[in-house]
Amino acid sequence: MDRRLDLVADCSSCFGLCCVALAFEKSADFPIDKRAGDPCVNLAADFSCGIHDRLRDEGFRGSAVYDCFGAGQQVAQVTFAGVSWRDAPATSAPMFAALPVMRQLHEMLWYVAEALTRPAAESLHPELEQAYAATEALTRTDTDTLAGLDLPGHRAGVDPLLQRASELVRSAHRGPERRGADLVGARLRKADLRGANLRGALLIAADLGGADLREADLIGADLRDADLTGADLTGALFLTQTQVNSARGDARTRIPARLARPGHWAG
Ligand code: SF4
Repeated sequence: MDRRLDLVADCSSCFGLCCVALAFEKSADFPIDKRAGDPCVNLAADFSCGIHDRLRDEGFRGSAVYDCFGAGQQVAQVTFAGVSWRDAPATSAPMFAALPVMRQLHEMLWYVAEALTRPAAESLHPELEQAYAATEALTRTDTDTLAGLDLPGHRAGVDPLLQRASELVRSAHRGPERRGADLVGARLRKADLRGANLRGALLIAADLGGADLREADLIGADLRDADLTGADLTGALFLTQTQVNSARGDARTRIPARLARPGHWAG
């Protein structure tokens, strides 16, 4: 069972929460400024996006990249029982405040679920199951509890488990240790990064064309505008849809089967 299948955004069951709750800053990712709590100008009455098929063309690259890991529909349908901020305006503030908290919880669930799919980390599965259950229980709490959550404290309990899972997965092909490395714009074309530790590495606009990133740990790595054309990311660990969406690739780029190939990738 791959629980990541339950951690996918279902915008049809949401109230356009990311399009309202989050602030936009005019930049390469957004063509406009928008305050948190103000609905995006493109949000339709039925909570759909009026420019969904052309977000990048219209300059909303940040929206095209964003992934809530299913936090949106959890807040909409579970925390607020299917009553929207339009139908109950008094719920707007706590609903919008809940989204980023829920997103962090769902992101943790997604990472733990990923570790649970790895046979190499089987010895950790009982502890991972406990972490999953504890995190999932938090996603079902009320808004006051969510607002008061010690997220860093909870993450501090989960992260060492993920690191141990990473060690086990990468033990067969131990690659370079580049945790948190500043690799902005680095020339890493055809680099052998199989099994590399790239946790939190800054790989913005790095040239990773043709690189071997199989089984590399990419948790939290910043891949914005990284060139992944022809790169092999088969089995890459903790690689998210947001990271893939933010990078460049082509028909030769190999990504884990669980991730969708971004529409803007050539070929
Ligand atoms: S918060 Fe998530 S589910 Fe809701 S509209 Fe945004 S991406 Fe879709």
